[in-house]
Amino acid sequence: MSAFDNRPVNRRTYTMSSIADNIESVTRRIQKATTDAGRDIDSVRLLAVSKTWPAADIRAAVAAGQHAFGESYVQEALDKMAELSDLSEIEWHYIGPIQSNKTRQIAENFSWAHGIDRFRIVGRLSSQRPAHLPPLNVCIQVNISEEDSKSGCSLNDLPELAEAVLAQPNLRLRGLMVLPSPAQSEADLRASFRQLAELQAMLNQTPSINGLMDTLSMGMSADFELAIAEGATWLRVGTALFGERADL
Ligand SMILES: *Cc1c(COP(=O)(O)O)cnc(C)c1O
Repeated sequence: MSAFDNRPVNRRTYTMSSIADNIESVTRRIQKATTDAGRDIDSVRLLAVSKTWPAADIRAAVAAGQHAFGESYVQEALDKMAELSDLSEIEWHYIGPIQSNKTRQIAENFSWAHGIDRFRIVGRLSSQRPAHLPPLNVCIQVNISEEDSKSGCSLNDLPELAEAVLAQPNLRLRGLMVLPSPAQSEADLRASFRQLAELQAMLNQTPSINGLMDTLSMGMSADFELAIAEGATWLRVGTALFGERADL
């Protein structure tokens, strides 16, 4: 482990079967919200956010049928990948902020990156993507609300950043991602999700993109039903599956 990434891992204090139970109840909530929204049940997928939880928890989730996992800290993720290398069915998503000095590890080890927010990392991720792997699936993180201090591409830069991703041979532009500040009201959260969907629809109408973007990465434990109502396709859910994270 590097000195910068030497993060403690949460310890589980209750039984693993609760992970399977949680997956089942979240899946039921997703199905209900998807049906209520009049959407196809296969159009919404669950990304299990396993950051800070040990590899054994991921193994329990895989045994319960979950295959896509989201991690936010590169070294922690690589350690878990090594521990779980016998489970070839896992699809790894990088959902954390992307530091320039971590792009190589992300390009070499993940299938998806959800937090693309600036030009500098776009070229690096593509040139560092190994030739034997399919293109890295990319979502551009958008900074939608002004009061939101989170990272993300500005609305002004978004069209140009999308073009930049599109121009890279080893990246595949899949969609947009938003991480709204959790303090917002339900109405404001919903407005952010709707705006992300509208931005994507607009980009999809440009001749170069022409409908290629098929992914909206939005919705977490507290708000995924709202996100489904506004068109989410990847739900990034941690707490509702693995429990409350200690503040690490
Ligand atoms: C931690 C994290 C999540 C999961 O949040 P929960 O509230 O635990 O479901 C989703 N997205 C990102 C980018 C995260 O960092």
